[in-house]
Amino acid sequence: MSASDAWSPASWKTKAIAQIERLRYQLSAVQRNEAFLLHAGDCAESFDACTHENISAKIGLILSFSLILIWGARLPVVRIGRIAGQYAKPRSSPTEKIGGREVLSFRGDNVNGLDVNDRTPDPERLLSAYFHSATTINYVRGLLTSGFASLHHPRDWSLSHVRSPSLRKEFETIVDGLSDALDFSRTIGAESGAAASPFERGGGRDTVGEVDFYTSHEGLMLEYEQALTRAFPLPGAGITPDPTHAPQNQNKNAAKPKTKAFYNTSAHFLWIGDRTRQLTGAHVEYFRGIRNPIGVKVGPSMEGGELVRLLDVVNPDKEPGRVTLITRYGAGKIDNHLAAHIKAVQASGHGVVWVCDPMHGNTQTSTSGLKTRHFGTIISELTSCLRIHVECNSRLGGVSLEFTGELNEEGFSVTECVGGSMELGEEQLPMRYQSFCDPRLNFEQSLDVAFMISNHYKK
Ligand code: PEP
Ligand code: MN
Repeated sequence: MSASDAWSPASWKTKAIAQIERLRYQLSAVQRNEAFLLHAGDCAESFDACTHENISAKIGLILSFSLILIWGARLPVVRIGRIAGQYAKPRSSPTEKIGGREVLSFRGDNVNGLDVNDRTPDPERLLSAYFHSATTINYVRGLLTSGFASLHHPRDWSLSHVRSPSLRKEFETIVDGLSDALDFSRTIGAESGAAASPFERGGGRDTVGEVDFYTSHEGLMLEYEQALTRAFPLPGAGITPDPTHAPQNQNKNAAKPKTKAFYNTSAHFLWIGDRTRQLTGAHVEYFRGIRNPIGVKVGPSMEGGELVRLLDVVNPDKEPGRVTLITRYGAGKIDNHLAAHIKAVQASGHGVVWVCDPMHGNTQTSTSGLKTRHFGTIISELTSCLRIHVECNSRLGGVSLEFTGELNEEGFSVTECVGGSMELGEEQLPMRYQSFCDPRLNFEQSLDVAFMISNHYKK
């Protein structure tokens, strides 16, 4: 037995870290237009909402949304949840006025409490964040392997909550079609062929209908991220090169190929927020060194040249699947910025995954004072985004949404965004407004978006 075979409680650390590499591979498929990326979940998770009902509702909505896309657009969907660690929020102002009092802004459960009397930052909260993240991912893994996430059981994903009869009918048609297709595959014995799909490279599944799911959060609190950053062997590292293929006149001083890389183990995918993407800032410096696939939020204040320099820093070797650009300009501003950004990136030779976040540029305050987003405005940014990519000979690879499948005790969806097939009005917002951060699309509104995208990509 060679030394490398010796087991120790830490010997797993000498092995390649499969899931993150698998996600990089799948994102490179999105970059090649062979798959679609769904990035979605809460604006911010809270420790109190870490319950099995809430987690199942979130996963159920992500699965339902992706099923509509897979079925309509016939594209594999890469699912990344804003989940299991999305506990820190960037703020535009360090303080806010509540009830006549100037208090520290709420920065997410990682830092302080939503209650005005609990705004002092408390480092103990980071331990609690770790515990809640681990609990969430543990439960998600249980769900994924229990059959809940299997495409054989889409009726378990809370179809009963779809109250709009037309939406319900459309979704049921898909589920019936899918059952037939899976039945047929089973009958002809095609089930075990799935692992051969190139999309499944990096440890394929051997049954049709089982799904992948990845976690993500904004990499905002660098102390937390640093503490969970570890070196692991790169995939394929340690494989002795074939001497018969060694290039002639090899430069003896050439740098040795890297065998290890730093991975952030707190999530598969992390993103840099629009407020922390300064070229010479700490966040870009941290992100450039981790091997995880990363996202960068791109808002209206980003210059084309700046965007390319940022890509040069975080992806100097132009590796496919490494960078996802999440654009969020606002429906009224996208026409002034997106085309220039696409052209600058195309001219630079960088390959990226382009994702539309139609939420963050479209937040408004309603007459009742509640923060909201109008469904029509969200669809407007998304539609413009799809059109501009086509005009620029580019392709939108995915969407980044804030949505929730959460229900109240009586089984009703939240009322945080206005409009959609249920035609929610501003006066209905206070009925079931549960977000303590940004307003999220509810179950029905999310499926409306899914059908709209699916129809766009339908051949
Ligand atoms: C977010 O995604 O919740 C967020 C704060 O986004 P942005 O950095 O784009 O404003
Ligand atoms: Mn948000």
